Amino acid sequence: MSRILVIGAGIVGLSCARALHADGHEVTVLDRDPPGDKCSFGNAAGIGVTEIIPASVPGLARKVPGWLFDPLGPLSLRLTHFPRLVPWLLRFLKEGRWERVEAITASLATLSARTYDDMLPLLAELDLMGDLHKVGALWVYETRAGLDADLRFHQLRRRHGLVCEELTGEEARELEPALAASIRHAIMTPQWSHVSDPKRIVDRLRLALEARGVAMIKGEVAGISGQEVVTKDGRHLPFERLVVAAGAWSGRLARQIGDRALIESERGYNTTLPSPGVSLSREVIFAERAFVATPIESGLRIGGAAEFAGLDAAPNYARSDALAELGRRFLPGLNTQGGTRWMGHRPTTADSLPVIGRSPRRDDVFYAFGHGHTGLTFGPTTGRLIAELVAGRQTSVDVTPFAIQRFS
Ligand SMILES: Cc1cc2nc3c(=O)[nH]c(=O)nc-3n(C[C@H](O)[C@H](O)[C@H](O)COP(=O)(O)OP(=O)(O)OC[C@H]3O[C@@H](n4cnc5c(N)ncnc54)[C@H](O)[C@@H]3O)c2cc1C
Repeated sequence: MSRILVIGAGIVGLSCARALHADGHEVTVLDRDPPGDKCSFGNAAGIGVTEIIPASVPGLARKVPGWLFDPLGPLSLRLTHFPRLVPWLLRFLKEGRWERVEAITASLATLSARTYDDMLPLLAELDLMGDLHKVGALWVYETRAGLDADLRFHQLRRRHGLVCEELTGEEARELEPALAASIRHAIMTPQWSHVSDPKRIVDRLRLALEARGVAMIKGEVAGISGQEVVTKDGRHLPFERLVVAAGAWSGRLARQIGDRALIESERGYNTTLPSPGVSLSREVIFAERAFVATPIESGLRIGGAAEFAGLDAAPNYARSDALAELGRRFLPGLNTQGGTRWMGHRPTTADSLPVIGRSPRRDDVFYAFGHGHTGLTFGPTTGRLIAELVAGRQTSVDVTPFAIQRFS
């Protein structure tokens, strides 16, 4: 058994710490602010098992200019960040071929197939089974053309055992009466679920791990030198094994080991409306507009957007407001007053696959990051895989597609 340091107290780092501790290792988690706000707190709360299609797909490039010029559109880019984005963007565009879409989907489907096997024991352990709502998700469309453009992706999902049932607008409104009449088509994905509050899962997991003897250390990594992590305030933390699970910041840390990862912060926004005045019973994905609405405990969370502006730029909360405004178009009567606005850094790789595996340069360094839109969904499975890799056991899924070497 070894002394293991996990960098990152988000859902991924904590899931790794849990699985490693269960294997009998002495585990410490280091985070610049263990209980503080992070991507794992404010997300859309979806257990998105059907989210296995990569972001880069054939035809996407044609939509980008329209999105960039639409103030309510799903994509924005800060020009000052563009030069740093170029290597990621080139790889992203290169991945948008149908053969790659099929291959990436097949790899993500292996994680998706394990999601509930790994998620349910975690929720049960935290006494949070009541927080999981297995009521499916509804993908809604205003136009037949919008649905038709997505049908090949729903078909690909079906090939991996995921149920996608086509509904008319009226059938969608029978399920969700709050939807506007402009919604004409829908796809129901019954295996999807959502949770009452993603923050509660992370908070409770952190406290449960502390109670089991996992040390939570507050500190920011300044450097990794030999078998020590050096914090910004000058502390030296020794380790025998290191797990880098620092979300969107992980690329910077991997670079210190000498490994390259094409990972960007895909900044996402949302507004949680405490008194929305309309109700949904499941997550609704407005597919043509690339935003979602999830009924969570504290209200209706309306979010989405992809902003490429790097890790350090201040949030532009006008994007949160724009999403709430968009919500009003499709949920007539939506009350947008009193909303809480939030921004989080999705850790997004250029090929939409996470990085899960051992460093090719150091046997004692493991990577668990880059989960993009699905870190809440695939976090517990990632923890299992990291524990299996550390122990040298056969992994539950083939981790070859997730190796960091693909970016070398
Ligand atoms: C708007 C939005 C909606 C989303 N919706 C969903 C959804 O419905 N379902 C889903 O599955 N996923 C969703 N996601 C994605 C999901 O939230 C992320 O994939 C997930 O939270 C990533 O978890 P993580 O543990 O890798 O990173 P984080 O939660 O960001 O944690 C990383 C931690 O590392 C720490 N850290 C970083 N650098 C250092 C350093 N140098 N020293 C010390 N500590 C450091 C940070 O402080 C942070 O606490 C969404 C994301 C966004 C933004």
